[in-house]
Amino acid sequence: MDRQTLSKNLMWVAVILAVSFILFSFIRPQSEKIEEAPLSEVIVMAHNGNIASIEVKKNELHIITTSGDEIKSYKESDDNVRELLTAAGVKIEDGSLKLTVKPDESNIWNQLLLSLIPLLILGGILFYMFRGAKGAGNQVFSLGKSKARMFTGTKSMVSFTDVAGMDESKQELEEVVDFLKQPGKFLALGARIPRGVLLVGLPGTGKTLLAKAVAGEAGVPFFSISGSEFVEMFVGVGASRVRDLFEQAKRNAPAIIFIDEIDAVGRQRGTGLGGGHDEREQTLNQILVEMDGFESSTNVIVIAATNRADVLDPALLRPGRFDRQVTTDLPSINGRKAILEVHIKGKPLQKESDLDVMAKQTYGFSGADLANLLNEAAILSARRDKKEITLSELEEAFERIVAGPERKSFVISLKEKEITAYHEAGHALVAHMIPGTDPVHKVTIIARGAMGGYTMQLPLEDRRLVSRSDLRKKIAILLAGQVAESIQFNDMTTGSSNDIEMATSMVRKMVTEYGMSDKLGPRTFGHKQDMIVLGRDIASQRDYGDRVADEIDKEVAALIDKGHKTAYDILTKNRVKLSRIAEYLVAHEMVEGKELKKLFDEPASDVQIEEQPAS
Ligand code: ADP
Ligand code: ZN
Repeated sequence: MDRQTLSKNLMWVAVILAVSFILFSFIRPQSEKIEEAPLSEVIVMAHNGNIASIEVKKNELHIITTSGDEIKSYKESDDNVRELLTAAGVKIEDGSLKLTVKPDESNIWNQLLLSLIPLLILGGILFYMFRGAKGAGNQVFSLGKSKARMFTGTKSMVSFTDVAGMDESKQELEEVVDFLKQPGKFLALGARIPRGVLLVGLPGTGKTLLAKAVAGEAGVPFFSISGSEFVEMFVGVGASRVRDLFEQAKRNAPAIIFIDEIDAVGRQRGTGLGGGHDEREQTLNQILVEMDGFESSTNVIVIAATNRADVLDPALLRPGRFDRQVTTDLPSINGRKAILEVHIKGKPLQKESDLDVMAKQTYGFSGADLANLLNEAAILSARRDKKEITLSELEEAFERIVAGPERKSFVISLKEKEITAYHEAGHALVAHMIPGTDPVHKVTIIARGAMGGYTMQLPLEDRRLVSRSDLRKKIAILLAGQVAESIQFNDMTTGSSNDIEMATSMVRKMVTEYGMSDKLGPRTFGHKQDMIVLGRDIASQRDYGDRVADEIDKEVAALIDKGHKTAYDILTKNRVKLSRIAEYLVAHEMVEGKELKKLFDEPASDVQIEEQPAS
């Protein structure tokens, strides 16, 4: 038994003693059985002269009758026996009845004890705390000690096979596993061990799972902590906790440190306006200091998770820190099937093919949602005394989750899926049809971060200079999403806001910064000022008159209109293709490579348009 458990046990002994003390002071030993009589009867007996003496002690009356019998009685605490007897006409003064009222000494003792006990307990606790504080790991006095949990032993660990799908992410992390397993191999060649990996993805897309799997695959301990834990703490505590966490990990190296929700501490540091959050900054600084302080041979890799990489302080993303990013996307149909297969293990399912049905239906579900779906279905089946999970429980579980509060932000109806499909098909088709643009590499309607879906173009060569015609094409492509929606559904949605914002700012820059407007000529408009107080924020000052402002607005509108018309022309003339791509996306959620080429190139009955005139 170490000191800590000893003092803990001592404390328990003290508490038990105190409690039994209290109990004993209430329960009196009852030596002999004495007859009891109600007070009213005692008074009647006294009135009749049958009582020799009454002894009052607290609320107990000890009575001796004239015939020598003992009787016991009780009174209410505010009853006064002398008054009661006098009122009943009993003469006490003449000595025929001897009344003695004993001072209530036991009561005094009780009170004394009762007031002492809390003091004793308090003393005990204080004693325990101070002893504990001298030792290690006391909760009250070691707020700064890391609460990071340590998982050792590889047996209980997650491995890559527990992570379904996500092949790309796993592949990227494979390297981290190698580093942890055989650092010597890399160090011998002078390679720098990666310090930090940032996992970026929506909640429930398996970031924690992946980090654990890396630790599991490498067979190293896993230390985890969440950024949000730091925020609610006293100033200075977060930093010391980070120090302890890293210390602990280094002592157990090779090891993985996992920082969940790093955005809670790693947001861009204050612009100086509105006051900063000291605790957050100190914690963040400490993380940076620790990561920079790793010696080249320290084999500790920090994996951090966030669903928003864009809000992170750029200092976190510098080389030697979290310079590797791995995205975890929401799973596509195949991914969802694979995740369902992982989680159905140990749950009897009536028909294997039901999982296909669910995989198709669960567009927009994260891995966590899918795990939850199967769990709900299992619970439903058990409540219905079924031996196996059937499609009806799966369907009901699906509906519960979709309607549930935790998914209010992400319920995707079939209609929305279709709209997103047309939107992305619009971007893709316009990008493909306008000559001289980067080839379309991949189109997906699986959400990534704030985007409902995305169309990925791969640049053929690295370009530093962007021409006016490139920008015009880009604007048409950006607007094509909304154009496709309105062509197909005769309506538009809020899903295009980001596209439109980007197109507008691009056009504005063309006119006011790049001098690309024929009407306004090669001039910059607006005098930019880097204001130090504002940090990154740039305040623009108007250095032109109202007439020019009008001109700028007109030019911006004209350029947007032109892009819009290009997109509209291409999409109306290729409606069959547009629908074909969109329908493919509804069914498969993603398209790339050969399939995409086929969709683009297979002749459709409608005519392709000519290249748009350049100006
Ligand atoms: P995040 O950290 O991204 O919020 P988690 O890693 O905590 O998400 O995932 C929550 C749960 O969802 C996991 O414990 C696991 O059960 C399930 N899950 C998520 N993605 C997958 C996947 N690719 N394969 C298997 N299970 C998954
Ligand atoms: Zn779009």
